[in-house]
Amino acid sequence: MKYKQINKQNIWAEKLSKKLFENSPCLFLDRDGVLIDWTDYTMKPKDAKLINGSDKVIKECNKKKIPVILITNQGGIGLGLQSWDSFAKIQTKIINELSNKNAKIDGVIACPHHPLALGKYKHKNHPCRKPNGGMFSVAKKLFKIDLKKSWMVGDKINDLKAANAKGLKQGFLVLTGYGKEEKEKINFLPKKFLKIKILSSLKKLKVNF
Ligand SMILES: [Mg+2]
Repeated sequence: MKYKQINKQNIWAEKLSKKLFENSPCLFLDRDGVLIDWTDYTMKPKDAKLINGSDKVIKECNKKKIPVILITNQGGIGLGLQSWDSFAKIQTKIINELSNKNAKIDGVIACPHHPLALGKYKHKNHPCRKPNGGMFSVAKKLFKIDLKKSWMVGDKINDLKAANAKGLKQGFLVLTGYGKEEKEKINFLPKKFLKIKILSSLKKLKVNF
């Protein structure tokens, strides 16, 4: 199936909200291991489950008119282990589950490129694949938000490196998903790096940051 959300660079760039959020700060979330439980590349849509309590912070952002945007590497698509169809189904499931809890995400950016992929998705170092920050630039273009006032929540150091590359205000490493293993790597980051806080899960994020 063809998706109108997929841009010329083969990046999924989707606006779920009509608002522009001009010059607004934004809460960026990695998807797998932060918002939903993540098994592996072969995950089926039915296996996608919200991590307990992750709707809470999204709801708070909705109330404060802070946009919430997912920024997710989906190299499994490039590798042929996932399809855009299953990605879209997982997204629908997440959006419906959040909507049942009165929480709403405003946008989704996903990068299918991978160094080991085949065909059009094979890129040694695609600017949109985290740890590169290209997906933040895609979001900025779509929503006119201010990256320098924004936050990123990830379960991998690469999520935070991507945020650092674009000069975001702060990063949060959650200990869900790969977070526990990734935590050690914080010690090896350069001194002049984005401010990072460790949280046990997304639920613990306070919206006044
Ligand atoms: Mg992740």
